[in-house]
Amino acid sequence: MIATEHSDLSKLCVHTITTKPWNIEEAARNFSGAGVKGITVWRDALEGKDIRKTGQMLRDHGLSVVSLCRGGFFPHRDQIKRTDAIADNKKAIEEAWQLGTTMLVLVCGADPSQPLEESRKQIRDGIAAILPEAEAAGVKLTIEPLHPMYADTRSAINTLAQANDMAEALDSPWVGIAVDVYHLWWDPHLEQEIKRCGTNGNLSAFHICDWKSPTTDLLLDRGLMGEGCIPVRKIRSWVENAGFNGFNEVEIFSNAYWREEQSGFLKKIIHAYQNHS
Ligand code: ZN
Repeated sequence: MIATEHSDLSKLCVHTITTKPWNIEEAARNFSGAGVKGITVWRDALEGKDIRKTGQMLRDHGLSVVSLCRGGFFPHRDQIKRTDAIADNKKAIEEAWQLGTTMLVLVCGADPSQPLEESRKQIRDGIAAILPEAEAAGVKLTIEPLHPMYADTRSAINTLAQANDMAEALDSPWVGIAVDVYHLWWDPHLEQEIKRCGTNGNLSAFHICDWKSPTTDLLLDRGLMGEGCIPVRKIRSWVENAGFNGFNEVEIFSNAYWREEQSGFLKKIIHAYQNHS
C-alpha cells in the first residue's frame, strides 16, 4: 500500500483479542504492514512468551504498546480469593512493566453473592492495595466501566459517573479510566461525564467497536464501527474535546469475525476506522 493510505492511521491501535486467531508475532507483522500504529496486548497472548522480548519485538515493528489487558476482578466474598486477586494484579503490573507499557486496564469484577456496594468497596480497596506497585512500575491502573448487563460477575462499576467517583476518591496519578463505547454509549450523562473525566485528568484510554442490532451474543458479537447503533464519531469528538489525544483502540470480540480470514478482517477494520470513527 502507498504511504498516503496510512496517513490518517497515526492514532489507530488494535487489541490482540480483536484478531484472536493470530498469535502475537502474526498480529505484530500484519498490524505493522497495514499501517496500524498501536497494539494493546491481552495477557493470554503472552502465555509461554518471554515478555520483555515480546515487547521489544512489538517496538521493532514500529508499534506503540498502548496497554496490557487486563487486571481487576477484585471482589470476592471469600477473603482468600480477594488476596489472590491482589497477588494476580501485582503480577499483571510486573508483566506490563516487562512489556514496556505504561497502562494496565482493569475489568474490576463483581461477586453476585454480595451487594454491588460491597463489591465496589472491595474494588476500591483492591486498587488502593496495588497502587504502590503501579507507581514503582510506572503503570497506570485504568478502570474500565462495563455495561450494566455485566454487573453480576464482571464489573460493579457500570457507568462513567461511577468510574469518575472511584478515580476521584483514589486521587492518584496512577489511576485512570478507559471509555469504551460498547459499554457506555447508552448513558444519557455520557457527554458530561466524559468532560468531567478529562477535566480531572483521568481520561486514559478510548475503546471503539459497535453494537449490532439485533445482537446475537452479549459478549462475542461486537461489530465494526458503522455496523451498529453507536454514534462512535460523536463520542470520539466528546473524548477529544475533553482533551484526550491518545490512541483509538479497536476492541472487537466476535465469533463471526474470528472465523474469517484475519487479513481481510484487518482491512475491514481499517476501512471502518477511516469511515465511521
Ligand atoms: Zn474495552
